[in-house]
Amino acid sequence: MEALIPVINKLQDVFNTVGADIIHLPQIVVVGTQSSGKSSVLESLVGRDLLPRGTGIVTRRPLILQLVHIDTEDRRKTFEENGIDGDEWGKFLHTKNKIYTDFEEIRQEIEAETERLSGTNKGVSDEPIHLKVFSPHVVNLTLVDLPGLTKVPVGDQPNDIELQIRDLILKYISNPNSIILAVTAANTDMATSEALKVARDVDPEGRRTLAVVTKLDLMDAGTDAMDVLMGRVIPVRLGLIGVVNRSQLDINNKKLVADAIRDEYAFLQKKYPSLANRNGTKYLAKTLNRLLMHHIRDCLPELKTRINVLAAQYQSMLSGYGEPVDDKSSTLLQLITKFAAEYCHTIEGTAKYIETTELLCGVCVCVCVCVCVCVCVCVCVCVCVCVCVCVCVCVCVCVCVVCPQGPRPALFVPEVSFELLVKRQVKRLEEPSLRCVELVHEEMQRIIQHCSNYSTQELLRFPKLHDAIVEVVTSLLRKRLPVTNEMVHNLVAIELAYINTKHPDFADACGLMNNNIEEQRRNRMRELPSSVPRDKPSNMGTAGGPQAGAEQVDGGTGGWRGMLKKEDGMPGDKNAFPSSPMRGNAVNLLDVPVPVARKLSAREQRDCEVIERLIKSYFLIVRKNIQDR
Ligand code: GDP
Ligand code: MG
Repeated sequence: MEALIPVINKLQDVFNTVGADIIHLPQIVVVGTQSSGKSSVLESLVGRDLLPRGTGIVTRRPLILQLVHIDTEDRRKTFEENGIDGDEWGKFLHTKNKIYTDFEEIRQEIEAETERLSGTNKGVSDEPIHLKVFSPHVVNLTLVDLPGLTKVPVGDQPNDIELQIRDLILKYISNPNSIILAVTAANTDMATSEALKVARDVDPEGRRTLAVVTKLDLMDAGTDAMDVLMGRVIPVRLGLIGVVNRSQLDINNKKLVADAIRDEYAFLQKKYPSLANRNGTKYLAKTLNRLLMHHIRDCLPELKTRINVLAAQYQSMLSGYGEPVDDKSSTLLQLITKFAAEYCHTIEGTAKYIETTELLCGVCVCVCVCVCVCVCVCVCVCVCVCVCVCVCVCVCVCVCVVCPQGPRPALFVPEVSFELLVKRQVKRLEEPSLRCVELVHEEMQRIIQHCSNYSTQELLRFPKLHDAIVEVVTSLLRKRLPVTNEMVHNLVAIELAYINTKHPDFADACGLMNNNIEEQRRNRMRELPSSVPRDKPSNMGTAGGPQAGAEQVDGGTGGWRGMLKKEDGMPGDKNAFPSSPMRGNAVNLLDVPVPVARKLSAREQRDCEVIERLIKSYFLIVRKNIQDR
């Protein structure tokens, strides 16, 4: 039977590493109001000063305390292995293999570890501290010390501290395999015991609740705890045990626990002689040990089944992780290289695992570029051309094309107007291009997930490595995003900085357009009534006349300037601008009412058409440039 507790302690160690929540191991949980003497009771059980105690909230994190009985042989072995000296020692889970032989140091470590998570000003945390005490003077027990039940928040405590502590206590005592040690001070009314109340909430039949009555020495003169200890006030199925711990003065005077236990015995003999051998710390330790063993015996069949199920589950999970790793660095290198290769293959579209259900990655990136720039740009073209050119027909063209000509008759569509209008359209390429960058970024991000989830199955064996790779690649992509956006800004800025009307494709487009317009013009001329004077041949600008210079600039290739010029009438050609309000006079541009509503003359309409086509043609060239880049 005695061997049962060490087995459970071992299980406790194992489950501390894999997560103690998945199994309910038998343990003794100490509950009670603040300063009722919980930590003092535990300390008496250990027989050493090791826990922070005092008035106010002192225990602020659960402390899982395993008492391990050691015999002389164990002690000798440990001392030899660790080169230490002493009778007893402690070990924390969070300080790994460090051995504490000084119990004052253990207390300080508990305080420091409490402050690390709960702060210095009375805060509480539900993260437990694990401590093992090895001693020849203890019985094997696993005890949990908890913060005391409280009512009013103090210090940094939140308003709901009462609830928080209650929840924390409930979390431990709801474990059906725990024994509840409900601590109540004898100088308070037993009927008001919060400890017994909370214990009843989870153990209404009292099958696992043991009551401890502390501070028997502090009862009012003329009163005693006889009725309470006899179970006449509140009956407790597993019993009520009275103890006398050290007072604060005793602690301050560094009274030894051993002396306190002797004094306790003397006190009980004197005050409660008939109950003395069924009360006191020693009796409590023995009772707890017995209870725990019986409890473990009762829980064991169920525990065994649960552990077998868990072991099978973990075994299959372990086999799922594959063969053991011999050379960590080379495995690491292999995995990373494989991931990198898969990533590149996916982008290039040569990955082995390409599925038909989804369009994969490199293709998508390409589609992003095409769709984004094409669709968005098509929309842009439509919007730009429709809105801009249509509105431009009314506003922009009139203002931009006609106005800057000032008093001069509109012989040319001025280059400045063309630039102004075309730049507006080119500028619009920026937004879809940036969106394209965004989509490509998203796609590349998706490739990371895809490669890490599907392609490199081995990676799933190392979830932390998997996460680290994903994080590194993600942050790398994120870092490149602003740089890429900047580049896109620059690409558009380059196009905006110089409108290259000498671009061969543009010249070709203009040549074609020129021919069409020329044809249309000839058709129009043919339709004109004979009374309307026809344009002189020189107006066509093919040779001589005022336009000859400009024509030569064009090199006779049918460039855009030449084309526009050919479309325009000559000064003095009164029919060319039958309704233009600007003809012939110097007008302040700002004063000119923008003739949005008026009907455009046939000539203006033609101008607009020409400029629309030119803008479109130039825009397509720029769009192609940007798309290619
Ligand atoms: P906890 O908050 O329930 O853990 O209570 P502590 O163990 O920290 O004790 C609170 C205070 O009560 C300390 O100053 C102890 O010295 C004192 N104390 C605890 N038990 C007894 C007891 O049986 N007799 C006397 N006189 N003082 C006690
Ligand atoms: Mg305490």
